[in-house]
Amino acid sequence: MKRYGVDFYVWRQQLEQDWHQVIQRALKKEQLNGALEQFLDAVEQKLERKLTPHDSERIACRAGCGTCCQVHVAVLQPEAENIAAYLKENWTSEQLETLQQRMQKMLVRIEGLDEVERAAVSCSCVFLSDEGSCSIYPVRPLLCRSLTSTCSESCRQALRMQALGESCQVEMNLFQKELFDTAYLALASIWQRCGKDHRGYELTAAVSEAL
Ligand code: SF4
Ligand code: SF4
Repeated sequence: MKRYGVDFYVWRQQLEQDWHQVIQRALKKEQLNGALEQFLDAVEQKLERKLTPHDSERIACRAGCGTCCQVHVAVLQPEAENIAAYLKENWTSEQLETLQQRMQKMLVRIEGLDEVERAAVSCSCVFLSDEGSCSIYPVRPLLCRSLTSTCSESCRQALRMQALGESCQVEMNLFQKELFDTAYLALASIWQRCGKDHRGYELTAAVSEAL
């Protein structure tokens, strides 16, 4: 069934068909990160083709907001490896050491917490810069890309409510959400077909492990 002009079930099958061989070949040649970048570009291009200028204007997400960057984010192993490779390429050894220390502190703080408890401790993502931007923006997780909102105050309110164990509606671009959620499921399925662990892991733990 089509939603927002796209049959996401068919698109997911198409993604799996188009990218399984590409990712499998890249794995053999140890060029996974290049293949993953192409996969992410393909999904971003689909988003760009579909979003109208009106849609884009309504989305409130901006560098410097980042209020949402304290929720639990699940990543797949290839995403964590891609982020680790990006960090090794772009960050100095001192920055990586500081990051590892921050990640270990963060992991102690969030260990065993469910989503409500995590919202209550207000623990920002280790990749959120002091200016409120994502410091791994080009390789950020698919599920971070799926999150949009038309009102940053609604996000703050929703987080406050989540910390109290209650829910609050946030108006968002549902096409973007469904697009990246579907891409995540397709990549998990591709990864499984490559004989790999296709489960999602908490972002900090997964990247710390991959570094
Ligand atoms: S989802 Fe909300 S909190 Fe996150 S960047 Fe967008 S407007 Fe800001
Ligand atoms: S990876 Fe980037 S976008 Fe995702 S939660 Fe962390 S800072 Fe925010």
